[in-house]
Amino acid sequence: MTTVFSKIIAGEIPADVLYEDDICLAFRDINPKAPTHFLVIPKKEIVSLADLSDEDEAIVGRCVLVASQVAESEGLVGGYRLIANTREDGGQEVMHLHFHVLGGRKLGWPPG
Ligand code: 5GP
Repeated sequence: MTTVFSKIIAGEIPADVLYEDDICLAFRDINPKAPTHFLVIPKKEIVSLADLSDEDEAIVGRCVLVASQVAESEGLVGGYRLIANTREDGGQEVMHLHFHVLGGRKLGWPPG
């Protein structure tokens, strides 16, 4: 399924890119919910965590590692939250797997 994130990967629409390699892309969320809010997405069109195959293991691992490394480079020494909203009940709006990284303030728990 082609989404707005495929267009960002292809460079067809602009994004504030923080990191890119052959496997994944990290860029700032257009509607930030915290002082620092970026997304890490695989370049492969995977719909959600609920749609992973065994062959996606290394891709997901890479995305999580990149999330950690970009969080560090963004200065989130006090901590942060990694979230993957999944399908309708999880509040997923863009049907391309993405990890939110939120930080820069104390985050509440539980989420709504
Ligand atoms: P979801 O609700 O699917 O977990 O989150 C999708 C996220 O993508 C939202 O936080 C939304 O602000 C972000 N988003 C949607 N469209 C764009 C876009 O065109 N550019 C960027 N940078 N973020 C986007």
